[in-house]
Order: sequence, then C-alpha cells, then structure tokens
Amino acid sequence: MAGNTSADLSLMREFNESLVLNLIRQTGRISRTDIASHTHLSRSTVSSIVNDLLAANLVCEVGTGHSRGGRRPIMIEFNGQAGYVIGVDLGATHLMVLLSDLEAQAVVRVASPFVVEEGPKLGLERIAQAIEQALQEAGLGMERIFGVGIGVPGPLDFATGKPIFPPIMPGWHDTPIRERLRERLNKPVYLDNDANLGAIGEYWWGGGRGARNVAFIKVGTGIGCGLIIEGQIYRGEIGSAGEIGHTVIDEDGPPCRCGSAGCLETLAAAPAILHVAAEADPALASNGKLTILDLIEAAQDGHLLSRRLFAQAGRRIGTALTSLVNLLNPGIIVIGGGVARAGPFLLDPLRETVQQRALPVAVQGTRIVESQLGADAIAIGAVTTVLRELFSGPDLAVPTRPHVAVSQESLNPMS
Ligand SMILES: [Zn+2]
Repeated sequence: MAGNTSADLSLMREFNESLVLNLIRQTGRISRTDIASHTHLSRSTVSSIVNDLLAANLVCEVGTGHSRGGRRPIMIEFNGQAGYVIGVDLGATHLMVLLSDLEAQAVVRVASPFVVEEGPKLGLERIAQAIEQALQEAGLGMERIFGVGIGVPGPLDFATGKPIFPPIMPGWHDTPIRERLRERLNKPVYLDNDANLGAIGEYWWGGGRGARNVAFIKVGTGIGCGLIIEGQIYRGEIGSAGEIGHTVIDEDGPPCRCGSAGCLETLAAAPAILHVAAEADPALASNGKLTILDLIEAAQDGHLLSRRLFAQAGRRIGTALTSLVNLLNPGIIVIGGGVARAGPFLLDPLRETVQQRALPVAVQGTRIVESQLGADAIAIGAVTTVLRELFSGPDLAVPTRPHVAVSQESLNPMS
C-alpha cells in the first residue's frame, strides 16, 4: 500500500495548493501568515505552496502589509494574467470569440456573422479560425491558453459534448464538437448549451448576483433557458433541461420546427416578430433585410407597430415564465439575447404578465431584470466554466458519475 500513500499525499498536496490559490484569488491580497491562519495549514506548508505558485507565475509578491509586531509581511496577490481562457458564443447567425484573463476580464473579442445552417464541417473550421484571430489580436500564442468553453444554441448531451437534434442547428445532430475542437486546438474544451452558459455568466458576474436560484432566458433566433438551482446549474438527466422555447402557449398556433405547434418560439422569438413586422409594414424592410436591431430602433423612435410587437412578445414570454415562476420560485430571472435589447418595450409587459398571472407567493420574491453582460453573457459564461474547472482542484468528495446510455441491456439487471 506504500504506493497508495504517496499518491494520496500528492493528491492532498494538490488539494492544499488549490485551497491556498483560491484563498489568494478571493481575498485579493494576503500574507503568508494570514493564509496559514485561514487554511489551518502549517506555516512551512504554506511557504512551500506559495513558492510553487510563485514559480508557476500564478501569484506574485506585491509590497508589504501592516505589521502586527515584527517585520511587515510580504503580501501575495493572484496573477490574473498568468494565462488566458477562450469563451465561444456560437449562435444561429453570429459567432463571438472572447479571450479573457484568469479573472474573467475580456481582453479581445472577435465577432462575425455565422450561418449555423452551413453545417459542422465549415462551422468548426470558422470557430478555429476566429480563435486564431483572437490570439493574433491579443499577441498571444496558443500555449498561453488554459482551455476553451463553447456555447451552442440547442439541446446537447453534456457527457459526450454532442448536440441532440438541435432544432435551430440542422445538420449538427450528434457531431462530436468537443472532441473535434479538442483535437484541432490541443486544449481542454467544454461544451454547454448557450442559455446554460448565459445563466452561469449572469449568476457569477451579472444580473443574477444576489440569488441562489436564477433563470436566464435567451430570446434570440430561438428562446432558451438556463437554470441555476441552489447555486448549481441544472441540466436535467441528459442535458436538455430549459427548453422553454418549446412550451406550448397556443394550442392552435403555427407549426414549430421541433415538430409540435404553437410553441413560444414560433410566437415570440426574433424571426416570428420580424415576420409579422415586415408583413404589416413593408416600409420597415425597405433597406433590405429587416433585423431585430432595426425594429428596436424603430420602437425607440416611436414606431407604434414595433412597440406593439415587442409588447406582444413580452406578454407571451411572460405567460411561459409564469409557469416557470410557479414551478421553481426563482429569485432572479435575467432576460438576455438580441431581443432583450428592446429593454422596457419587451420587459415591462413581460413583468406585468408574470405579476398578474403567477401565484402571489411564488412571484413575490422574484425580480425580472435585463441582462447586465449583454452580448458577452454566453461567452463570459463559457470562460467561467473553464475557470471553475481550472480552480476547482481535485474533486475529493464527489466522484463523477459515468454517463450510462439507456439501452435494453442496461435496463436488465441480469445482463
Ligand atoms: Zn417547438
């Protein structure tokens, strides 16, 4: 068992290192003595760990603190520029690559139009190129990158990193996005649903701060929802939780690309709003293809039809959110995505609907706010996912459950 002992010691050492590193990150600036008293580690263990962290450039020594008798202590600070992380927001019509430091501060953004319908072969190539462009603009080599997080606009199998019949990503079903990019970039890659990442971004750094139960609603080409429950992202059994866009709100409504009809998405997502607007007022589209930003500008300029359409979309989203509020009693609902830039034109009727329709006990503690991270929300959530993996340290308590595909064999206990 001697081998085991040494393995356990190195695991303990790794655990203590992440404990010390996280304490330095959280406090901002701290002395070795204070690290020892906070972590209950011995002074010599702390000194040796801090030396390792200094050698790895993850922390630096920054001047001296106040003396409590004796020598003034040297303060230790986290070095947020010790490395970088990339967050990718892959949308139906846009691609954004955000390069951030280790404190989730954006360094470079590369945004471009994107056509998800062109399929994965071209799409993955475009992602890799945009990442290379971001590195070039930041003047950094790939060796400075710790990992890449990616958000995709559809349901996926979180364990395998593959989209599962994503309605707005035709041709991407079962594509091993995570593996392909891992091979291409030679870095750890994390894949998640875009709304989940928006929820993580807003929960840590944006409008979701201050609550333990947070929903992020992304209103764009589709309508998705990321859920943080008791401080943890909730993905569901496979990873498809939060598909609020496919809540039926009109039994006799138009057909949806998911195969159902009258889904929220067919009545309140950007294409539905734009379709009605262009039909009702052809002058709106006189300069070519009408976009949601055009319509927001029209509403701000007093265009009544545009205002009415955002109000209608807001009420419909509010109707779906009423069920969410009754079911989950979230503390904060953050509304993001391109359509949320309509601000009060969308949010006021949305809030009113939820206030009027949800159970008073469920809604009294719920705040509905606009996204604070705006167009960065999903990319910052992707960055945060990588940072959390980086700084989580060895997971001593909770072993990862293996993903088991449900088949007849696995359902038969005798096989
Ligand atoms: Zn649907």
